[in-house]
Amino acid sequence: MRPYILAETNWKALSEQRFELAVLPWGATEAHNYHLPYGTDNIEADALAAAAAAYAWERGGRLVVLPTIPFGVNTGQSDIYLDMNLNPSTQLAILDDIAATLSRQGVPKLLVFNSHGGNNFKPLLRELGLRYPDLLICMTEWFRALDREALGVAPGDHADEVETSLLLHLRPDLVLPRESWGKGASRRFKIDALGESWAWTERRWSEATVDTGVGDPSAATAAKGQEIVGLLQEKMGQFFLDLCKADPGDFYQQEAT
Ligand SMILES: [Zn+2]
Repeated sequence: MRPYILAETNWKALSEQRFELAVLPWGATEAHNYHLPYGTDNIEADALAAAAAAYAWERGGRLVVLPTIPFGVNTGQSDIYLDMNLNPSTQLAILDDIAATLSRQGVPKLLVFNSHGGNNFKPLLRELGLRYPDLLICMTEWFRALDREALGVAPGDHADEVETSLLLHLRPDLVLPRESWGKGASRRFKIDALGESWAWTERRWSEATVDTGVGDPSAATAAKGQEIVGLLQEKMGQFFLDLCKADPGDFYQQEAT
């Protein structure tokens, strides 16, 4: 039993335990190229949040990882078979109930651990922050914590080299053989600006992709997946630990620059 995983711990242990930080992993259920399971984002969320929590726990952080929410925002994949969509307003309702529970029971900090690019938590957390001033609410996205250039992986953001490597490491039994992997080719918008960071419209997945993947997975290996888990465990684990130890009332550096 890992004492920092709520689904594994028990009432006996919790009768003597109080936590500084609750971590809420949030994934999605959706197609990932031909070869990765629909639960890919949840498998990643489970594994990466638990690895980072172990790092923080071993260094004295008192934190608990809540069960992963398995459905995410998939508004751009409404015609992809059995991609499950939760609307952002539904996510807000779920988060509100979770924040209410934590706030009522005196857990002072919540970290939403995002594992799916379609989930956009910032506006939701801004609204919740006003509702729960006694709860410090933060979020993190593991896929942005990764230095892709340093890793030397091919560009992509969905069922790409990174995700395929992670699944080859975490759940090789659920990855189809290499000959079935799609190329992860995608189509850019005709309007160049929409491909840049200062303009945006939602990608219609069935038109923008060929096999639902975005990014060539062909160089993926289990060893790369293991390396990614190790890098993220340390980087995100230190962040978890810093949050555990932080005083929400004394959150800024002394010097203003
Ligand atoms: Zn994914």
